[in-house]
Amino acid sequence: MGRVIGIDLGTTNSCVAVFEDGRPIVVPNSGGYKTTPSMFGVADDGKRLVGHLAKRQAITNARHTVFATKRLIGRRFDDTEAQRTLEFSPFEIVRGPNDDPRVRIGEKAFTCPEIAGIILRRMKRVAEEYLGEPVEEAVITVPAYFTDTQRQCTRDAGKIAGLEVLRIINEPTAAALAYGMTRHGDEKIAVYDLGGGTFDISILEMSSGVLEVLATAGNTFLGGEDLDRRIVTHLVQGFEKTAKIDLKGDAMALQRLKDAAEKAKCDLSVREVAEVNLPFITSSGGEPQHLNTEISRETLEDLVQDIVEETLKSVDECLADAGLSASEVNQVVIVGGQTRMPMVQEAVTRHFGRRPHKGVNPDEVVALGAVLHAHMLVEEEKELLLLDVTPLSLGISTFGGHFARLIERNTTVPVTKAHIFTTTRDDQSAVKIRVLQGESDLAEENDLLGEFILAGIPLAPKGEPEIEVSFDIDSSGMVSVSARDLATGSEQSIAVNSTSTLTSEELEQLVADHEAGEVRLKG
Ligand code: AMP
Repeated sequence: MGRVIGIDLGTTNSCVAVFEDGRPIVVPNSGGYKTTPSMFGVADDGKRLVGHLAKRQAITNARHTVFATKRLIGRRFDDTEAQRTLEFSPFEIVRGPNDDPRVRIGEKAFTCPEIAGIILRRMKRVAEEYLGEPVEEAVITVPAYFTDTQRQCTRDAGKIAGLEVLRIINEPTAAALAYGMTRHGDEKIAVYDLGGGTFDISILEMSSGVLEVLATAGNTFLGGEDLDRRIVTHLVQGFEKTAKIDLKGDAMALQRLKDAAEKAKCDLSVREVAEVNLPFITSSGGEPQHLNTEISRETLEDLVQDIVEETLKSVDECLADAGLSASEVNQVVIVGGQTRMPMVQEAVTRHFGRRPHKGVNPDEVVALGAVLHAHMLVEEEKELLLLDVTPLSLGISTFGGHFARLIERNTTVPVTKAHIFTTTRDDQSAVKIRVLQGESDLAEENDLLGEFILAGIPLAPKGEPEIEVSFDIDSSGMVSVSARDLATGSEQSIAVNSTSTLTSEELEQLVADHEAGEVRLKG
């Protein structure tokens, strides 16, 4: 059997860890970097590029270089979030046949699970090159606030990468696991995870061999990318004012602005002022135009203050769900590259009344936790019990478009809840059930996981038949549903992921395509 790995599939960067000599370690890629950009591109000669090679061509080949697709995975094309991504995207996002956003490069429209699969395959290869043996199994992390559809898509991506996904675990939980490795004693921990694309907050309790998530909250569309975008907008507006030129429609200029914005943002974590110099950003009347400006830390903080405030609202929500006050938290662990920003650290310090723990590397801790968990699973280690929660309530649509919660958010998983359904008309032979996830009382505002029809109900007066429907959330946070007619005992298992963004035929085809193109390591 091959080795098992832990992968942090990030919006901006990905990281892979293996378990060696009794401890988890992060594996550097062939360039010596411990993280690999989550980027994919196609070069002019048709060659597919992943990671640093893709990043290198991002400016010169912006239309064919894809980044941050984790923001689109498991979403509908019409989602407001997906639409916001479209607005500034240098690459082309089109509507797929399943109403999913796809990235068009030349003739081919790539699905988001396929792009994630390509990145995962690269991370698998990084581990295989280091270990000198094939890797077949992995634990992959996702934002705690990912829905069932987003988790299903991540699992599909694992399959496309040629990996058996042993478990999907939440990023903050993985971070807490890695942090907890070196701690003894009882503690209540808050993990504040602000990455490139998503924000999660989890409150956990660690006591004698049990790591229990008490509550989690977050936003899968809030992260460093949003800060970058604010800076890009600021720069575009400034240029429009001074040079009277609108750069918004220029893919190459936008890509250069995005790179410069991110660089300025990172510079401003250690400096008060950052320069932005983009010579030949465009031309006007045959004359080259240059963008030369400065941005201060104060300006950046003004531009993004509401984003940082937004994270604190989720923190309060999470504390309330955990039944704790901020002062009852013993340790705050900060994770994700964006927590390097001083303003973020100050906001966290102020909010919890304590300085965050600095002992973990925010870029690596999630992958380390993932492989620790993978190791626990394959070795069947019983020393530590990990209990996670479901981030969103699960329910069904009822008469009048209301949402009836069957499993409340922050319920410990795995969990199964059974409910009895009946008919509303005499001799009704079928009922339709729509399964949804979310917090709105209105069914249509929540994420539709799937709908199914229970057919073959024996004819009877209304209200008499009894159909027991079981809703199950497994340890990966994924939902399945089964139904049983109590009169006949006949059972049906229902695929709730019917609205996942890939059909099973498409998935099979993608797995086969990528397997065929794979060069296997011997051993
Ligand atoms: P992650 O998803 O954890 O890899 O986080 C990536 C995000 O962190 C990106 O938006 C980066 O721009 C941001 N980031 C990385 N380093 C810094 C830094 N020194 N200061 C501010 N933001 C940073």
